[in-house]
Amino acid sequence: MPQPRPRTPLDPRTLLDLDQAHVWHPYGPMPGTATPLLVESAAGVRLRLAEPAEGHRELVDGMSSWWAAIHGYGHPVLDAAVRGQLDRMSHVMFGGLTHEPAVRLAATLVEITPAPLQHVFLADSGSVSVEVAVKMCLQYWASLGRPEKHRLLTWRGGYHGDTFHPMSVCDPKGGMHRLWGGVLPRQVFAGEPPAGFDAAVDEAYAAELADLLERHAGELAAVIVEPVVQGAGGMRFHSPGYLRLLRELCDAHDVLLVFDEIATGFGRTGELFAAGHAGVAPDVMCLGKALTGGYLTMAATLCTSRVADGISRGEVPVLAHGPTFMGNPLAAAAANASLGLLLDQDWRTEVKRIESALRTGLAPAAELPGVADVRVLGAIGVVQLDHPVDMAAATRAATRHGVWLRPFRDLVYTMPPYVTGEDDLARIGEAVVAAAAAG
Ligand SMILES: *Cc1c(COP(=O)(O)O)cnc(C)c1O
Repeated sequence: MPQPRPRTPLDPRTLLDLDQAHVWHPYGPMPGTATPLLVESAAGVRLRLAEPAEGHRELVDGMSSWWAAIHGYGHPVLDAAVRGQLDRMSHVMFGGLTHEPAVRLAATLVEITPAPLQHVFLADSGSVSVEVAVKMCLQYWASLGRPEKHRLLTWRGGYHGDTFHPMSVCDPKGGMHRLWGGVLPRQVFAGEPPAGFDAAVDEAYAAELADLLERHAGELAAVIVEPVVQGAGGMRFHSPGYLRLLRELCDAHDVLLVFDEIATGFGRTGELFAAGHAGVAPDVMCLGKALTGGYLTMAATLCTSRVADGISRGEVPVLAHGPTFMGNPLAAAAANASLGLLLDQDWRTEVKRIESALRTGLAPAAELPGVADVRVLGAIGVVQLDHPVDMAAATRAATRHGVWLRPFRDLVYTMPPYVTGEDDLARIGEAVVAAAAAG
């Protein structure tokens, strides 16, 4: 095995050999079995490969690096913000110290999220922000002298991250609960929310939610769901009516409501936050992914004054959580610049433009054998197959069209950067259809 030496450039073959032997990839075996594409740089909506794949040295990114890179890569405003911050300081601890990038970011998040959310915890990844949300809810009830309210209710088909408490509220099948039977906290699950953003609220399902909440209220700290779009759990859309119902039920039964907007936040579904489709505010909200425009890892957990006051009046009157890189100035500077870019433009029109291009581009997939459903909401396009996708064949088909896609389970899907032009959107559409046909 060749040894990497500092400052010696490594050729692509060597890099890929080292990668396979030593580097874990998401949800991957060790050593790796599939050869990843080696990316050299990225600009605009294009990833530049070290070596051509299926004849293409550059691929249009149909994934926004998992919902994150909403402004594309190498954006001059984001680059300048991070460089400027680097000249001042890249990091200082957040215990006992504070700084403008973090304070400005928290103030902006309070301003743009539903009004009752007033307090911000800056975490270093989405999963950690969900851990913090759970800790806030459990500690709120413990502080009020009701420690028996420590379980969570969610619906099936969700995804909330890969650390242990978030895993406990992921879909039991997708989250591999059978692997973790004795380890994960046991939560309360409703069935999957009935599919369809425009579908009417299903009375039987509404009754199921009401019944579960009523029966378990005494032991429930919170309900946690992804509003409107369930992302990595299956790319399913549901009616905002269920969110209004959950808000009513939580109020009626003294249970907190957590919205995990890590995937849906910052315009992706056509509203700035998916909660906006329902016109309801949660007690706790998680943000991540597109928060920094895909530049650096950062997430946030917001809560209401009721939650914060409850915690702060308890026997242990502090929120005992404090990551080493909390409030990282580089990430906060990227987030401030990304939010500035987003809010200073007519993002709603851009997302609508992408929505209509995806509707047109993905429509031919509905005619393909093996396709169960084609759905689009905001800047999210999904083709669901009636069988598990052949990842290698589907990815190759997309690459042949010059597009980067990462299908999973029975899904070929895309959520392009908001800056993707018409020609590139058409190309993404063709690639999704080709991947669905090949997969
Ligand atoms: C991605 C995601 C997470 C986890 O975020 P990480 O930054 O990967 O830890 C949690 N919830 C939802 C809805 C997500 O999409």
